[in-house]
Amino acid sequence: MTLVVEHLAELTGFRDRDLLDVTLVSALRELLRPLSLGIYRVVGDAKRQHWLTRARIGEHDTTAAADPLWTELDDLPAFDSRPDRLACLREERIIERASEREGLAMQLFPVLTEHEAAGVLEIETRGPMPAEQQRTVQGILRIYRNFQSLLDYSERDTLTGLLNRKTFDECFLRLAVEAANGSVARAESGGRRRGLGSFAFLGVIDIDHFKRVNDTYGHLIGDEVLLLLSRQLRACFRFYDHLFRFGGEEFVVLVRCGAPDDAGPVFERLRATVAAYAFPRVGQVTVSVGISQLRAADTPSSAFERADKALYWAKQNGRNRVADFETLVRGGALEDSSRESDVELF
Ligand code: GH3
Ligand code: MG
Ligand code: MG
Repeated sequence: MTLVVEHLAELTGFRDRDLLDVTLVSALRELLRPLSLGIYRVVGDAKRQHWLTRARIGEHDTTAAADPLWTELDDLPAFDSRPDRLACLREERIIERASEREGLAMQLFPVLTEHEAAGVLEIETRGPMPAEQQRTVQGILRIYRNFQSLLDYSERDTLTGLLNRKTFDECFLRLAVEAANGSVARAESGGRRRGLGSFAFLGVIDIDHFKRVNDTYGHLIGDEVLLLLSRQLRACFRFYDHLFRFGGEEFVVLVRCGAPDDAGPVFERLRATVAAYAFPRVGQVTVSVGISQLRAADTPSSAFERADKALYWAKQNGRNRVADFETLVRGGALEDSSRESDVELF
């Protein structure tokens, strides 16, 4: 029993969700000594869903492996390629089946959390798992779920479920380190286009004339617009991009892409999607967007400031448009006040 308690202590000691899945898998391995186990999550949008491996340990592995965070959706197994996982999630129950490996058994447990995508925990054993062990796994999964809810409570905005401003700095700094590593590899290979996630952009999105929406239709309808907009944000960006509600009607997105020119069209698609959507009661709502590419010496506030300047320019120049800070500087519309040494881009 002490071992279980120790693992629970470790599981709830992390605030990093990536580590949480790895810890869960490592803890269950030590506790149950199965042949292999893994946790898989559903990623993508309503039309294209796939399975992302969050953590997996095979029989001879010492540590858990995971899919890289910036994976092309189509490189991942399709959602309906695994009917057993589908049944496990839909029916929210343990599924037991024979393993692909002769004579072994596989049990699937549903992993349900409020905001994180749903997932499945797969455990491969020599024979059927005893009921008591199944109850232990289910108990640990319940604690895991409660802990995720606590994390959500402190890191997410209650209206939209997007990340809140408080978590932005931490998220930004982690991304900057990863982008820096990517940029080193890019410099070495000398190419402009590298794998996914080599370039990072920050976008600030602000609803146009939102005060009018509130004044005309009231705050409740205004809140509904915010909620619907947050859904469009989720649909337009990838599962590995980070979406924040920064305050009132302002949203921030941290986006990874394979080339610097890829970011503009993504934000443009969001702008067009919002403009084309008929919001209940309100009708058309538009957004203005300012974006800027992250730089080597960036702090969260320096990158935000550049994107915010571009946003201000968009507001001054007709609204319902996407403005890119670097393009505006090149065209002479904005001045770049940062130091020369900052100009090296990811
Ligand atoms: P623009 O950005 O196009 O310049 O005009 P705006 O009217 O959107 O300007 P501003 O940013 O000054 O106004 C933001 C308004 O957003 C003020 C307030 O009425 C509304 N707002 C802020 N937070 C909330 C919220 O949580 N719920 C609702 N319903 N409204 C909010
Ligand atoms: Mg505003
Ligand atoms: Mg506004």
